[in-house]
Amino acid sequence: MLDESIGIRSPQPGWPSVKQLLDGFNSAEGPLPQPFNRRRRRMLVLGSLFILFTVSFWACFFAFKGQFWLTALDLALAVSAGGVLWMARNSQLRLAGLVFLAICLSFLLVVATLADVPTTVAPRTLHLYMVPLTVYSVFLLQHERFAVRAFVVTVVLLCFAVLAMAPVDLAHQHFMSESQRRVGAVLNVISSTVLLFLVIDIMLREAKETSALELDFARAVATGEVLAYLQPQCTADGRIVGAEALMRWRHSKRGYVSPAEFIPMAERSGLIIPAGEQIAAIICKALHRWEDDPVLRELTVSVNVSSAQLFSGASTARLLGTVSEAAAPRASLKFELTESMFVQDFQAVRGKMEEIRGQGIRMALDDFGTGFSSLSYLKQLPLDQIKVDQSFVRDLPGDASAAKIAATIVHLGEDLGLEVVAEGVENREQLTALEAMGCRIFQGFLFARPLPLEEFEALARSGKTLPVA
Ligand code: C2E
Ligand code: MG
Ligand code: MG
Repeated sequence: MLDESIGIRSPQPGWPSVKQLLDGFNSAEGPLPQPFNRRRRRMLVLGSLFILFTVSFWACFFAFKGQFWLTALDLALAVSAGGVLWMARNSQLRLAGLVFLAICLSFLLVVATLADVPTTVAPRTLHLYMVPLTVYSVFLLQHERFAVRAFVVTVVLLCFAVLAMAPVDLAHQHFMSESQRRVGAVLNVISSTVLLFLVIDIMLREAKETSALELDFARAVATGEVLAYLQPQCTADGRIVGAEALMRWRHSKRGYVSPAEFIPMAERSGLIIPAGEQIAAIICKALHRWEDDPVLRELTVSVNVSSAQLFSGASTARLLGTVSEAAAPRASLKFELTESMFVQDFQAVRGKMEEIRGQGIRMALDDFGTGFSSLSYLKQLPLDQIKVDQSFVRDLPGDASAAKIAATIVHLGEDLGLEVVAEGVENREQLTALEAMGCRIFQGFLFARPLPLEEFEALARSGKTLPVA
């Protein structure tokens, strides 16, 4: 959060809408691997359809027998399962998962203790669904905090153990004949076992797909197949003054994989370290080549550096070694760090930044305004540039709050003598608004998308202003 003392974060006018709250809740889990999201959706759809099918049957059965409160309970579960299905189809996967677990657990507890009481003729069997529910909990909560996952799994298993061992009977009356309960028991055993098999199968396929993707990425890094694309950074009149290097990966079967999918995976696996070094090496070699070109040698290129590259063993030293090896002109190179890094250890990041800047390489602060922003820390950092995050640019010029934040960041940069770059500029209205605030350098689809290195070189050399019609 931004420091209130610099007044960047002003309170939002009015209450947030339900949609904003839901979107906020779902996006708070951050970008997750595509295979996981695909399988999570599949699991939720399977679970909801299973519930809809079975409880519809039981609702009809109990209605026929005149036991309307059990019918009402089944119908309530059916409606909730419909809600989960709707959320899963509308990408509200995080909320759908939590609601699914909550309704399943409460329904099983209530019905097992009221209507599925063990007798000498028919055992209790509803609690068997808690076994697939445990697998559901482990899978759906795998990216939540450990404490949340451990708590939910413990509760489900405890309920399973209590229902399996103790003949808890809250209603003290029988809703079904013993023969009907025996048939119900057979159905429950078969369907809970089939459900368990299906969810384990989905889970294993997800794990296989994710590790296959990770393996393919590791192979691509080992064979030097990661690509560096360059996105131009321009003045308002479209003159290219620099670029940001963005990692791209072309999978042999899938084609280009979205960075939203492979960058988080690379971060988690540590592969971001060698992959980031390759991007730095490609850029450093290009900068060295550009020294002989009267146009290209004037440009500055930014390279994204992840926290793993700063803090894992000797990776910073290796990164600096890459720059020396390629004999890249250091003043043309910039390393971009994100604000989120400072939450881990402010002094340590600052120390690393000083070490890098001591080598003559410039430093930029990426996605400014989204994390740990405060004036006091900004003043202490050896910085040359801040980048206004695209989330503030997106809503310009209409959104007063975004406009105020963007203007404050631009003025802050000016006051501290830093260059300010606005990211994610997509249209003329955003450009005009940012220019009026005093911003002078822009990056975004309005000017150009990230381009292969050779295309960027040809474009910059041509001296054309962007956007090229
Ligand atoms: P970032 O460093 O903030 O990069 C800017 C992102 O905004 C890029 O996404 C770029 O394609 C996108 N972008 C640029 N202009 C526009 C626009 O007008 N509209 C919209 N909607 N988007 C725009 P990309 O390439 O998908 O990269 C996403 C993130 O992945 C980057 O955010 C950065 O954090 C990370 N990343 C990319 N390459 C590297 C790398 O080589 N090393 C490391 N450590 N991280 C990288
Ligand atoms: Mg960046
Ligand atoms: Mg950024």
